Amino acid sequence: MKLCDPALFRQECYINGRWVRSPKIITVINPSEGTVMGSVPSLGEEETGLAIRSAKIAFPRWSRLTAKKRSLILKNWYAALCTHEKDLACIMTCEQGKPLSEAISEVQSAASYIEWFAEEAKRVYGDTIPMSQEGKRIVVLKEPIGVCAAITPWNFPLSMIARKAAPALAAGCTVIVKPSELTPFSATALAELADRAGFPPGVFNVITGPAEEIGSALTRSIDVRKLSFSGSTSVGRLLMRDSSDTLKRISLELGGHAPFIVFEDADVDAAVGDAVASKFRNSGQTCVCANRFIVHDTVYAQFVEKFVKAVESQLSVGPGNIPNNNQGPLINTDALEKIEDQIQDAVNKGARIATGGKRVPGKGYFFEPTVLLDVTPEMKILREETFGPVAPVIRFASESEAVAMANDSEYGLAAYFYTADVSRAWRVTELLEYGMVGVNTARLSSEAAPFGGMKKSGIGREGSKYGMDEYLEIKYMCIGRVE
Ligand code: ADP
Repeated sequence: MKLCDPALFRQECYINGRWVRSPKIITVINPSEGTVMGSVPSLGEEETGLAIRSAKIAFPRWSRLTAKKRSLILKNWYAALCTHEKDLACIMTCEQGKPLSEAISEVQSAASYIEWFAEEAKRVYGDTIPMSQEGKRIVVLKEPIGVCAAITPWNFPLSMIARKAAPALAAGCTVIVKPSELTPFSATALAELADRAGFPPGVFNVITGPAEEIGSALTRSIDVRKLSFSGSTSVGRLLMRDSSDTLKRISLELGGHAPFIVFEDADVDAAVGDAVASKFRNSGQTCVCANRFIVHDTVYAQFVEKFVKAVESQLSVGPGNIPNNNQGPLINTDALEKIEDQIQDAVNKGARIATGGKRVPGKGYFFEPTVLLDVTPEMKILREETFGPVAPVIRFASESEAVAMANDSEYGLAAYFYTADVSRAWRVTELLEYGMVGVNTARLSSEAAPFGGMKKSGIGREGSKYGMDEYLEIKYMCIGRVE
């Protein structure tokens, strides 16, 4: 890995404005090679306590700075990400595996969240409300919650942190980030840039170590007033349970099982193009990747033929740092085993592999882009999140059947459908039990939009003006004896 600014590759934690090492370490594997790329400290309860105390001490001053001053520091941070876009992308590709072009998009997306919330910092408006009693006035104030913890996953190692930390910091909160142990270097690079941007000590902290130990120190602490988590539904549920003793505010962005419906009046070519882009982004490892293709009988054959052809001709598997590869590795062998299990289960129950279906021999955790046909609802792949490059296709005959299939999931994050009918666009959107619906598009993520899910996909929204509310308390002041 060759960086223009090698100081961005930090193998240390960042607590109270200082870099922290430990004799105990966690090694980090490059998933394209299967080799060690570096290590980070394995810190535990004691250091988490230190981070919490630092963030608590830093909170009063940080929250009382003018919004404009906080905004300026966030803008410095944003500018630093833009300046170091290539280095950050390079670190990400190395630890996470995604192609360099996708890594660059992620750095830009992370930067855009920071820029957005730097702007929003100045627009945290309160309210005045007409009173129902004589001689009194109601004023609504919005105040930062306090110390916030962010526990983030490996699939978007930079933007998931930006999406949580930027609104928290803009609101006046202080933050402790625990990144995934699989991809900590994007987080430590972000800390290096936060340090350069001018955040005071204790305002932004990054800690790495055993997830359970750090997680439970964060959830048990009464001083941590908010927890924001992105990751699996099982861990989200556990963190929610553990946060109940201290009644923390929580935001959870969990699993998804996105349906992608192609109606009979759809522009099939547009649907095919978006299907490939959505399903195979980050090799299928995003919570909003299309996970089930639900295609109308009359366009099924046409869709399948074009989709399989596009998958075979447009996708090229290999290390993300080699130009033209657009399918990187999966994150580890567990991920490979999970999709092999889903494919085997589907084939045992009668599915047909139209293309792909196997690991790619050699170094790293690569898997062939795969399309499964003749899929039926009793197959695991139509119930479980896949998180890999496997596209199951199922057919339907009527709109109500398609909607029922789409809603037949415990998840409710993203859903997509393709149609030329405006009435149907509204009707089906209103019927889908999903937090985000793409109509004739499968690209939803934007700093300006509220990202989040229903049902077992989570609680709360990230991005947009709604993302700011997650880090604000409402305080109501009642003024009496107004003569
Ligand atoms: P994924 O399936 O995407 O790896 P996880 O839910 O396992 O999702 O991980 C997301 C984040 O949650 C990571 O930072 C991971 O270290 C952390 N994590 C995993 N288990 C726990 C736990 N028991 N307590 C706190 N954090 C955890």
